[in-house]
Amino acid sequence: MKETIYTIPVNDAYQAGGECPLCALQMTLDQQLLEYYLGPALMEPDVRKTTNQKGFCREHLQALYASESNRLGLGLTLHTHLKDVSADLLAQLDGAAAVGRRTLLSGREKDYKDRLAATARAISVREADCAICDRLSQTMERYLDVIFYQYFQDPAFRETFDHGPGYCLPHLSLLVEGASRHLSQNQVSVFMPALASLQRRCLETLTDDVEWYTLKFDYRNSDKSWKNSKDALPRSIRRLSGGFERKSNK
Ligand SMILES: [Zn+2]
Ligand SMILES: [Zn+2]
Repeated sequence: MKETIYTIPVNDAYQAGGECPLCALQMTLDQQLLEYYLGPALMEPDVRKTTNQKGFCREHLQALYASESNRLGLGLTLHTHLKDVSADLLAQLDGAAAVGRRTLLSGREKDYKDRLAATARAISVREADCAICDRLSQTMERYLDVIFYQYFQDPAFRETFDHGPGYCLPHLSLLVEGASRHLSQNQVSVFMPALASLQRRCLETLTDDVEWYTLKFDYRNSDKSWKNSKDALPRSIRRLSGGFERKSNK
């Protein structure tokens, strides 16, 4: 693998020393994609074809709106997306309504249940589909490729990885799942023990910090130092759920 456009962000995230390097990568990417879909690209026919069809998930719709950077652009994008959604879903609803009338006449109950379930699924798919989430997961996959490649080719990267801060649970899952696809069994026998020991260290420290946070509520400890526990709850929430703070424009 040559050095690619994905190598630099990966190395930057691992050098930055945050809580989860993959959260750092995702946060930067997320911000770039929000800017992209509100920038000049939104008038390009190919981009509009994608956003008309996929639209955005709840989280990204809210972030696009909250960015306040191009409300006209967001309006134009949503206008054509709404037309696309309406044409599709109203046809589905009409179909479901018609099958209701038919089964009322024929008495075949199973037909209408299947049709309603299929219509509900079709609505859920449209609701969850997201142009930004799709690009995020494609690019995170490229980043995984770089991480696994560098882990076995670059001793300095391996050293940084092995002594890193650990991962939030969603990204731990992404790494383990990625290892199953990218690595040979021999490579797994090197990579997984390192990941397990890294993650054990990070979870044990966090658990101790949260315990000390709770013990500080005991009046006998009130004069003692907080040690590293003052922000133990938000750190736990980020570690458990992978939440990262999106930069606000305000
Ligand atoms: Zn993470
Ligand atoms: Zn999304």
